[in-house]
Amino acid sequence: MKKNETPELLMPAGDLGKAYTAFRYGADAIYCGVPMFSLRTRENVFTDKDLAEIIPFAHKNGKKVYVTTNAFPHQYLIPLYEKHFKLLEELKPDGIIFADLGVLSLANEFAPSVPKHLSVQTSTVNAPAINLWKSLGVERIILAREMAIKEVAQIHKLVPDMELEYFVHGAVCMAYSGRCLLSNFTGGRDANRGACNHTCRWNYKVYDEDGREVDVAHHEDQRKDLDKKKTDNACCAKKSARSIRDFEQVKIVEEEQRQGQMVPMEEDFHGTHIMSSKDMCMIEDLEAIAKAGVCSLKVEGRNKTAYYCATIARAYRRALDDISAGKTFDESLWGEVHATANRGFFPGFLHGKPREGSMKYEANISTSPKEVCGIVKNWNHRRIEIVVKNRIKAGATIEFVMPKIEDDFTMTAEVLQFGEDAVETLHGGNDNKVASMKCEKEVPVGVFIRQAS
Ligand code: SF4
Repeated sequence: MKKNETPELLMPAGDLGKAYTAFRYGADAIYCGVPMFSLRTRENVFTDKDLAEIIPFAHKNGKKVYVTTNAFPHQYLIPLYEKHFKLLEELKPDGIIFADLGVLSLANEFAPSVPKHLSVQTSTVNAPAINLWKSLGVERIILAREMAIKEVAQIHKLVPDMELEYFVHGAVCMAYSGRCLLSNFTGGRDANRGACNHTCRWNYKVYDEDGREVDVAHHEDQRKDLDKKKTDNACCAKKSARSIRDFEQVKIVEEEQRQGQMVPMEEDFHGTHIMSSKDMCMIEDLEAIAKAGVCSLKVEGRNKTAYYCATIARAYRRALDDISAGKTFDESLWGEVHATANRGFFPGFLHGKPREGSMKYEANISTSPKEVCGIVKNWNHRRIEIVVKNRIKAGATIEFVMPKIEDDFTMTAEVLQFGEDAVETLHGGNDNKVASMKCEKEVPVGVFIRQAS
């Protein structure tokens, strides 16, 4: 892969701080949006003023900003969209991301000079659809996550002048590119307006028609036996069909935090469709993705932390730079992606339909062997001032997560102070006094500090 063929690294920015972090840690571009117009409404505090700050900053530093307006607005919101697009026409971001045809029409009318990017929410998976969007003024397609890389390559050949953006990292939604009403049903929160409560990841008990709790583990064993029987005796179709019907029975599920709310569930031979997937990670496959014609590698997670933004950005930056330099994949980068909260990884739909190993049946929580414990606020007189995120004890080994992985270093936390007082442990949550510790080496402001969790 030649340098000019290196795809851009596109990071999520849920707020202004995360936008600066993403750029500092190696992103070529960010996507962000004002909550009213954009999915990811929770924890997303981008404002018009923030856009007016980050867009010129990005352009001055050779970076790009794409603004998300990919909610599906009802009529009463349309005047607000018109106003927003007039503002974007002035601010000139590098793209407007949309999903609704009406929104495209407004964007074309009120922000004609800003390129239009089609959101993943439209589940675009074929060249005829792409050609139609192109005729309507769209310059980039954010492909559905459900596309294998060989399909992407085929599409690139058919529509070579269309920019293709592809998700390479982050949480995977069990519904087809977010088309899901589970969260609306259980919590009145609309996944298609960025408020998903992740119903699919909750922990459910299963009951049979008579109200007896079903032993799901035993049930799984029975299914395996049944699979084996099918393989051993392919001619026993009649027998297998009878056995399959045994499992096609109505059951009741009850989520552990919502006792008494019994939801009928039909489970067929393929299992229940309420389930929790692992997270997607394609860091080892970026060269193949670039060769397939993808120009932008997108990371999911506008609701995730600034530390996630930093760690994932610099890991993918390094993987891309290594490819440009003709180096092979550095296996140690797996340690970096695992250093952020995750549910375990699988390569998404990259090689086709995900099968074994793509689900996390045993738990719905994200874990990591590392936790962020502070952010450097200042370095002065061989001491660092810190915004404490998790307690730091004297004697602990702490690691500085620098913008470039090769600059990372560790040290022992010592000579801790809270204001003028010497302390044994630094705690978060009290901003009245400055938390600090000894640090001989100069560290830039904004660097994350982490420790074993
Ligand atoms: S509930 Fe699960 S499947 Fe539905 S939108 Fe939310 S994350 Fe996706």
